[in-house]
Amino acid sequence: MRQKSQYADRARTEQSRRAAIPIIMDEIRSLSALRESEAACTRCPLYRDATQVVPGEGPSGARVMMVGEQPGDQEDRQGHPFVGPAGRMLDRAIVDAGIDRKQVFVTNAVKHFKYEQRGKRRLHKRPNAHEIERCRWWNEIERAIVKPEVIVALGATAARSLLDRTVTIGKLRGEALSIGDSRLIVTIHPSYLLRLRDEESKAREFKRFVEDLRHGARLLDKAA
Ligand code: SF4
Repeated sequence: MRQKSQYADRARTEQSRRAAIPIIMDEIRSLSALRESEAACTRCPLYRDATQVVPGEGPSGARVMMVGEQPGDQEDRQGHPFVGPAGRMLDRAIVDAGIDRKQVFVTNAVKHFKYEQRGKRRLHKRPNAHEIERCRWWNEIERAIVKPEVIVALGATAARSLLDRTVTIGKLRGEALSIGDSRLIVTIHPSYLLRLRDEESKAREFKRFVEDLRHGARLLDKAA
């Protein structure tokens, strides 16, 4: 019974969120207006401990949108997405995949850094279902403004946010899905590559990652 009422609550929340997006879109028509609104966001508790919000970046008419999990330590300090080690890995893969970096909008499913303080270090903590759900709102507006032809979900959190359900990367990898008017592919987050210990696995997985991005690029060619 309790579970049933939780589903009903969730459905109601979802309904009101979807109804609110067109209204908000009337007010937020540009990426700069979106950045300002995101900076004032208190929709979940993550704004409290982060240094600042980290909005998506790239041209408003970018053909490709890449969605990661959340800002990392460097991103939180600098206020820009994908400027840390995972971002450098992503940039390398984008170049190898033959995608024009100037046509890529990079963002995260969750816009504030979630971490656990251990001494002087801030250790990344994965956002929970509530935080992903609350922050999805901003990515929906980003997508409505940018209108990317191809979206790349980098990792399980991004895929969950975009598809609104839990997903297993291994099951969806290699498929071309659709979300609104965009095509969607799902792959790993580049930070996964940084965690691999031996060079052989790293090189093999990097190649697979580049191949996934090439798959996205081929979808672009078809859409052109
Ligand atoms: S993480 Fe997202 S929903 Fe939560 S406060 Fe930040 S911008 Fe708002």
